[in-house]
Amino acid sequence: MRLIKSLSLINKELNKCRIKGQSIGFVPTMGALHEGHLSLIRKARKDNDIVVVSIFVNPKQFGPKEDLKKYPRPIKRDLALCRKAGVDFVFCPEFKQMYPDGFSTFVTVKGLSEVLCGKSRPGHFNGVATIVAKLLNIVQPGTLYLGQKDAQQAVILRRMIEDLHIPVKVQVMPIARSKDGLALSSRNAYLSEREKKDALVLSQSLKLAEFFIKNGASDTKRIILKMRHVIENMQSAKIDYIEIVDPATLKPLKKVAGSFLIALAVWIGKTRLIDNLLRR
Ligand code: AMP
Repeated sequence: MRLIKSLSLINKELNKCRIKGQSIGFVPTMGALHEGHLSLIRKARKDNDIVVVSIFVNPKQFGPKEDLKKYPRPIKRDLALCRKAGVDFVFCPEFKQMYPDGFSTFVTVKGLSEVLCGKSRPGHFNGVATIVAKLLNIVQPGTLYLGQKDAQQAVILRRMIEDLHIPVKVQVMPIARSKDGLALSSRNAYLSEREKKDALVLSQSLKLAEFFIKNGASDTKRIILKMRHVIENMQSAKIDYIEIVDPATLKPLKKVAGSFLIALAVWIGKTRLIDNLLRR
């Protein structure tokens, strides 16, 4: 495995691979790797000759009051996990290389970025779309691996890739969860043991919604109300949003019929967590 920090070097090394006709799978991350990231890496490993993982905590996707400074950065551990998973290249660019003086171009995916998480995190998805567009231009992979955990992000990036004619396939992998159902996230590191238990209300509320839908419930307002009750019963939990939307347009649905995405964001103490359920 090679750790590469320089843009020109990763470009040179990957060109060598392309000349040999090797397929390249790419997993962009912000590090603090867990089983969720590793499921993407394993899939990329299975399907490609070369696996590239990027680790870059992208300041442009954090709001001014968000957790950029305290975001976990266990780089040694991350590198060991990548090595064990058979990654070929870990790309860790410096901030200055990604955003040199004078940098002023942003990618905005209109309509999809202002809803759901975009409401409470204005500008977040512009930061995400911009960094992923840049990384795709640098790595030029055949396939990009994303997680369903960040459902809105996956929808936005698919739209961007289509709109900008970026020649890459997208593979979205299911949400990796702890045994008791908590969606794995680097931000779970902020939670106390007590809060980790409290945070189970997110997945529990989704399971409850799934149960009601399986048993014929279709009115989204009523389903959301039932989810609210479960979460509001937990003292440490504060709902940011719960929505049931069309999985392609992210527009709210009045009735569940056919495909749907139930997405929610909930504060557990000082930590904002997201989870979702997708049915196609
Ligand atoms: P991040 O490091 O949080 O930017 O995440 C990097 C990639 O890993 C994104 O495509 C995420 O959606 C994906 N990911 C994060 N957590 C999970 C999870 N629990 N299950 C599946 N994919 C995940």
